[in-house]
Amino acid sequence: MTATIEDLTPRFVEFIPKYLEPGVLYISIEYATTAHKCACGCGEKVVLPLHPTNWKMTFDGVSVTMRPSVGNWGFPCRSHYLITANRIVWAGDWDEEKIQAGRHHGQAQKSDWYGRSGGSRNLTRAKASESNRSKGWLQRALDRLLGHDS
Ligand SMILES: [Zn+2]
Repeated sequence: MTATIEDLTPRFVEFIPKYLEPGVLYISIEYATTAHKCACGCGEKVVLPLHPTNWKMTFDGVSVTMRPSVGNWGFPCRSHYLITANRIVWAGDWDEEKIQAGRHHGQAQKSDWYGRSGGSRNLTRAKASESNRSKGWLQRALDRLLGHDS
């Protein structure tokens, strides 16, 4: 029988070890990543990379909080929980629709993060071509008024 993990003890390491102790949240600041065994007790290794578009970690000197929630959709257990002040807070199963929405949200965040400068450049270009088009229309109207359009 597998035991459900109720809390995680943070352990700061340089390298994530090959074999993880259940109930330990390994944190490598050096490689900006964390790893722990799935809290349901299934034994799957959960790696949560730290990045503005992935997970954020808060360490108050004693306990660690990770955001967003951990959704192990790729594992048979499909467990979903939050790590709040070292505690595992079960978040319940998501239906497929919500998982998809969550994924889309993640992708939107990523493309916003990576394409911020490119996106605004495209917008400027679109605005410029729009004003060219309206200038053309205005020019045509003026031509018609002035009788150049015979
Ligand atoms: Zn699990």
